[in-house]
Amino acid sequence: MEYFCYCRKSSESSEKQALSLPAQERELKEYAAENSLKIARIIKESKSARKPGQRDGFNELIENIKKGHCKRVLIWHTNRLSRNPQESGIIMQLLTDGKLLEIRTRYRSITNENANDILLGVEFGSNAQYSRELSINTKRGLREKRKRGEWCSYAPAFYINMGTEKGKKNIAPNPKTSKFYVRLVDEIISNRLNLVQAVNLLYEWDVKTRRGKHFVKSELHRLLRKPSYCGYFEDVNDESDKGKWEPLITKQKWLELQEVLDDDSKPYQSRHYHPFKGIMKCPRCGCAITAYTKYKNDKPYTYYCCTKRRGKCDNKPIRAEDLEDQFVGHISKISLSKKYLEILKEKTRKQLEVDFSQECDRREEIENQLSDTLQKLDKILSMRIEGELTKDEYLDQKEILNKRVSELEELRGDVKYNRDDVRESLELFYEQCFGLQEVFSNGTLEEKRKIVMSISEGLTLDDKEVGWNFKEPWSHMVSVESAIENENWGGRRDSNPQPPVPQTGALTN
Ligand SMILES: [Zn+2]
Repeated sequence: MEYFCYCRKSSESSEKQALSLPAQERELKEYAAENSLKIARIIKESKSARKPGQRDGFNELIENIKKGHCKRVLIWHTNRLSRNPQESGIIMQLLTDGKLLEIRTRYRSITNENANDILLGVEFGSNAQYSRELSINTKRGLREKRKRGEWCSYAPAFYINMGTEKGKKNIAPNPKTSKFYVRLVDEIISNRLNLVQAVNLLYEWDVKTRRGKHFVKSELHRLLRKPSYCGYFEDVNDESDKGKWEPLITKQKWLELQEVLDDDSKPYQSRHYHPFKGIMKCPRCGCAITAYTKYKNDKPYTYYCCTKRRGKCDNKPIRAEDLEDQFVGHISKISLSKKYLEILKEKTRKQLEVDFSQECDRREEIENQLSDTLQKLDKILSMRIEGELTKDEYLDQKEILNKRVSELEELRGDVKYNRDDVRESLELFYEQCFGLQEVFSNGTLEEKRKIVMSISEGLTLDDKEVGWNFKEPWSHMVSVESAIENENWGGRRDSNPQPPVPQTGALTN
């Protein structure tokens, strides 16, 4: 059987799998020789796989699979192939379509028959990828707290620098001017002021920059966009990005302000935050779906509808509540209960033990080689002492053996990392599906937006009906609970059932 080898080493130094390209190649060649596999081609590249569409070598491999030149792939670890949902999806699809027959690593062979959609789909990614995408589950401690909470540079306008001692520096509201910022934001939000009006207001109040000049439009705009005024460094959706200084306004107010700035040209738009604005498309005319809020008897009613930027469109608007209900319905499909979370973890652990059963053998083998090599090092030293080797011979041998030792140590680390890494990624992913429906229902508007954006793609809205698509790998979690109930968890393994073995006991009864 012929295999295409694919070796990848990230250019990012942060990547855990640091096995070098030559080491990966040698490992694969060795493995192929041991198992009488024929290598048709070796594709190598130094590129990160975190973002899709960046790898020429990967594209070359996919082209070859599509054209039927390559049916089997030999790799060091599944995460060499892909670390992003999109390209993982491509591989999964090729496997499903039967264009790709096998993905082989040193420890296991993934084929069309035994591929477990859930495991594989998630495994292709990396925990970092998903945890970054869905950083909403703050309460569960999925986020690492940013250690610094202090403003390190020059204070922004309306603030002053505080403290001189290292580590105790921060910023505080400027007692003279900060109240003007608060007033200005209030005025902008309640009166839908545009930037010119806002600048004029500061002029009226005689509020000036630190250098004693009047604010200009562009400067004020930049300033109003800065989340530091509601207490964040950069990302208001990331709690770990929160600073320790005193904010001038709340996050909610800051977000409202952003809406006004966004809609500067549309003064009649409501001042409500519409979380699902711009994430759906109208399938009828291709325009984005926007939102507006109407008042009836002083009560606000929010609707989502087509922007109709390309002219007439008869797509009907939907009430925000109805839209959210539909979202809840879709999210519930991948939302895991505690019971199934535990079952899934247990099943995964067992499955990975089977899948990685050769891992232990390999680890032992590396240990043996390592001790052999260390013994050889001892031996040449005694040979040198006995005068059986010249100094040059000794140094040559020593260098070769030392190199082998460090390679083996590297390998040992990598092997150890393999299964645990996969299990960790999977568990982290399951954790994110745990109670996701409740997380969504009880979440803030930004959290809701973040969840929808993280797990779905290509959303449409047509006549009050959401067209929903799960992103990889979330799609694999759809109805996983019922699959477990029906003992169908093995993915495709069971869609290809063996004829039942006749039970001898049944006959004797
Ligand atoms: Zn439309």
